[in-house]
Amino acid sequence: IEFGFNHVSTGQLLRDEVAKGTELGCCARVFLERGALVPDGTVLELMGRWMEVAGPDNGCLSDGFPRTLAQAVELDHWLGARGLKIDIAFYFHCDEALVVDRIAGRRVCSKCGRNFHLQSMPSKSDGVCDDCGGTLAQREDDSEAVVRRRFQIYTELTEPLVSYYAHWD
Ligand code: AMP
Repeated sequence: IEFGFNHVSTGQLLRDEVAKGTELGCCARVFLERGALVPDGTVLELMGRWMEVAGPDNGCLSDGFPRTLAQAVELDHWLGARGLKIDIAFYFHCDEALVVDRIAGRRVCSKCGRNFHLQSMPSKSDGVCDDCGGTLAQREDDSEAVVRRRFQIYTELTEPLVSYYAHWD
């Protein structure tokens, strides 16, 4: 946003669908609650819609997508069809203990979406957003048990993308 790019988070798009109670949201909900990946077909449908409406044409930062090889291949097709390509893929290496600490301690403003952390970035007043006064809450899938499951799934299905992007240009 600061650099004039569009920002898209598939996790946020999915949570919005769940909150709106759409058919896609109802299908996705159970996967989100368990910390499992939503099936590729569902995520691709949602991202395909986003591409049509908002689109990556003027630059875009994609957060949480792609998360599987099939999603990465489809993204390359979509971008190729528009004469676009990925310029940079960021790889943040983090061990499980740190991931659990960062995510299980995360608190999110239910009004403006700002993120806090119980220890490393606490709000000035307990449970209240510094920016808008909204209530801070823990995401349902941020409990320690679910974070550990998400980490395991990341290792199995998402980490292979590191070599996918390491060999592309
Ligand atoms: P996030 O907000 O990126 O942490 O995503 C939250 C949850 O949404 C994940 O644990 C998955 O259940 C689901 N999700 C988000 N992005 C994807 C994706 N690209 N593929 C499959 N599931 C996803």
